[in-house]
Amino acid sequence: MVPDDMMDVWWYNGGMDKILLVEDDNAIVKSLTEFLESEGFSVASAAGERKAMELLASAKPDLLLLDVGLSDGSGFSVCRAARMYKLPVIFLTARSDEDSVVKGLDMGADDYVLKPFRPRELLSRIKNVLRHYEKGSSVVILPGGVSVDTERAEVLKNGAPLSLSALEYKLLVMFVDNRGRILTREQLLENIWDIAGDYVNDNTLTVYIKRLREKIEDVPAEPVIIRTVRGLGYRLD
Ligand code: CA
Repeated sequence: MVPDDMMDVWWYNGGMDKILLVEDDNAIVKSLTEFLESEGFSVASAAGERKAMELLASAKPDLLLLDVGLSDGSGFSVCRAARMYKLPVIFLTARSDEDSVVKGLDMGADDYVLKPFRPRELLSRIKNVLRHYEKGSSVVILPGGVSVDTERAEVLKNGAPLSLSALEYKLLVMFVDNRGRILTREQLLENIWDIAGDYVNDNTLTVYIKRLREKIEDVPAEPVIIRTVRGLGYRLD
């Protein structure tokens, strides 16, 4: 445990990405901190909601790892605050707590990992989320030889233009804009509603995704671009 008065010093770590770990399980805090530091991150931790809120404001982290069940308060209020700071959030969730996963994602969390998790898996999620938050050019390269140029509104597959409907294009761009994040069916439906103007139900969404996959994927039945996250939604990795 680092004493509070050392916290400020601790955070002056040059260009390193700073991670705020909010977790009340000491064993996880200890092992994860060691692991993340060995991977070049600086890490601060808070065991409860109050301390987490303090550090959110004072420490300006780049990413938040958030346990849902805290002994003091709830991870959800911390998540809400983090979204106000436009801070990426990855939930650490108990396997039995799928409702919390859905709630977290609906609140705008970027991703989640189920406990117990492999540190390597968490690391790749962290890098994925951080990459998404960095600014890039207007051309995004996707798996399967697909590239999306959001400035020219053009989608290429193996160099040849694809003809997508306005809705399919919008759907694809939503995934590109949220790369690495799970988009719940509810979030997708809200946005499709805006373009389609008509009532769009869950089945219609499935059809739109299917059509889009038929155009962009090599093998639509085994998608590598827009992946299905069972029971939750979809994700572009
Ligand atoms: Ca806990």
